[in-house]
Amino acid sequence: MARRCGLVLNDRTLEWEEVEASCPFCGDHGPGKHHLFLNTTRNIFRCVLCGEKGNSVSLYAKMEGVSNRQAFRALSEDSVLYRFPQQPLSQKPAEREPSSLAVRHNVYYDMLMHLELSPKHKADLLARGLSEERIEQNMYRTLPMSSSARRFLAGILSDFHNLEGVP
Ligand SMILES: [Zn+2]
Repeated sequence: MARRCGLVLNDRTLEWEEVEASCPFCGDHGPGKHHLFLNTTRNIFRCVLCGEKGNSVSLYAKMEGVSNRQAFRALSEDSVLYRFPQQPLSQKPAEREPSSLAVRHNVYYDMLMHLELSPKHKADLLARGLSEERIEQNMYRTLPMSSSARRFLAGILSDFHNLEGVP
């Protein structure tokens, strides 16, 4: 089925129980790599990079953009067409559009309202020549160091804001 779908197989592994192939779903982060494992006894595949997985029917379905049911029907008919092997294109993870400035401003402002300026950081700012008023005005804050505290902060904010697109 992998051949029929035009997957690029790793020749070295053709006799192995797990045949390796270039992943047509993520492109392996570059050509010449084989992250897709085709288990020839269990008739399943899995990409260790992008996690795409399935069996021979769903592989065909995904490659052809049809449902599993349609794929099964097509495969049950015996007009067998083999695609020409095609090196998949490497895909970079999509850059997520940041939310609008207004949305980010609201989230960050709210985040600042949950935080304090540590005495150490305040002393540093004073030592750099900033006045108490300026420090107050600029809303300097200290981010918590621990990842659990940061997660907690993000959790609080996510109750009031949609954080998708907010770096
Ligand atoms: Zn993949």
